[in-house]
Amino acid sequence: MTQTQTLSIADSRQAILERMAAAARGALMPPGGRDPADITLVAVSKQQPQEKIAAMLDAGQRVFGENRVQEAQARWVDGPNRREGLELRLIGPLQSNKAREAVALFDVIETLDREKLAAALAGAFEREGRTPRLYIQINTGEEPQKAGVAPGEADAFIARCRDHYGLAIEGLMCIPPEAEAPGPHFALLARIAQRNGLARLSMGMSADFETAIRFGATSVRVGSALFGGRG
Ligand SMILES: *Cc1c(COP(=O)(O)O)cnc(C)c1O
Repeated sequence: MTQTQTLSIADSRQAILERMAAAARGALMPPGGRDPADITLVAVSKQQPQEKIAAMLDAGQRVFGENRVQEAQARWVDGPNRREGLELRLIGPLQSNKAREAVALFDVIETLDREKLAAALAGAFEREGRTPRLYIQINTGEEPQKAGVAPGEADAFIARCRDHYGLAIEGLMCIPPEAEAPGPHFALLARIAQRNGLARLSMGMSADFETAIRFGATSVRVGSALFGGRG
């Protein structure tokens, strides 16, 4: 690892944190702006080379997002990085037959989106004796190829997870359609969360995290703007 690379990763993290803080302070709600400390930067480490991960850890980053269980295991359990002291978040689709591995590894699972997975997670919590925090993914754009609960089914699904499976839901997550302005999707996610008593919103990526913060994001998932393109 070269010194310049270490510096550039630390600098790019600092730049993203500053942009996040500026977006928070500039938010219209609440009046006077938001406290930047209320927004978590999730560094999306999927497909990034180890030297950049190491530099990000050196820079002080402790919260990481991964979209595949196996890749995350290779990087954070079997690989060179120490798992302790980190918060790992699963932000990609989860197959119910991988629920147990995901529960064993992650601190937060952001992609609960169907009843079969709710059942598998509830069972895995019991077997593993571990309860990662859960977010429900909402398919705000109702895109057929995208994971997530349809907005019209969100209230019933949240209630089912809570009442039938005994799952504590921490918040909601969305990935707006690429070709559309993200603001209305973030606003929709915030409305669904509010009427269901959920205070956390995982929304915003490299291209739109400042918009997401203005709409109430409590965590943003940033990959390429932090690390550079995925190799
Ligand atoms: C890859 C990924 C991100 C990060 O995307 P960037 O545009 O590189 O910031 C965020 N969220 C999810 C769900 C992803 O899969």
